[in-house]
Amino acid sequence: MLEQNLAVVEQRIRAAAERCGRSRGEITLVAVTKKFPAEVIRDAYALGLRHFGENYVQEWEQKSQTLLGLEGANFHLIGHLQSNKAKRASELFHTIQTVDSVKLAARLEAAERPLDVMVEVKLSEEEAKEGAHPSEVPAIVDRIRQAKNLRILGLMTMPPWNENAELSRPYFKRLRELACATGVDCLSMGMSHDLEVGIEEGATHVRVGTALFGRRRKE
Ligand SMILES: *Cc1c(COP(=O)(O)O)cnc(C)c1O
Repeated sequence: MLEQNLAVVEQRIRAAAERCGRSRGEITLVAVTKKFPAEVIRDAYALGLRHFGENYVQEWEQKSQTLLGLEGANFHLIGHLQSNKAKRASELFHTIQTVDSVKLAARLEAAERPLDVMVEVKLSEEEAKEGAHPSEVPAIVDRIRQAKNLRILGLMTMPPWNENAELSRPYFKRLRELACATGVDCLSMGMSHDLEVGIEEGATHVRVGTALFGRRRKE
């Protein structure tokens, strides 16, 4: 099942990249494993996946204990991070995609572990969505650049969910413009239903859960 799903996702990524003259190598597939057991990560690793996304520090803390020795695996935090969990997160993840304040950047610096980071940007007016306001992004990026242990990769966003993937496009365009204006390279945008649109708009990271692993238990 996972093997077939992965083949389909790979094909979708390749086709989208080809359509806009990009190479497959420019795009990192981050397999989103939240709510799935550790064995699923092991299976995905065996099929060659190396980037994994988890949403909750505590859930990942438990699962990671049984997942030692996955050489070369890169674990990304893609869910909201509270400042008081920054230190623990810095010990458990390689990449934090959800830095959304200067304060959080400072906490991650204080943890003194080498980390790749992205700034999560909130581009919609939805109440519930996490992320920094676009106007705050330059200050957060500057703060990250001052931190010796942090490496800024780029920006991440999650548009309001809609089954019509085209509705994600304006958000992805804005994220790209913002990255350009801020002088950062990576764009984490696009999920199971809208990864093609993300790639067409320049995504360097797509975060894919359902299309690989099936539906999650209700969140
Ligand atoms: C759950 C999640 C995803 C994956 O979504 P799917 O629709 O299952 O591909 C991607 N990004 C974030 C931030 C998520 O929370």
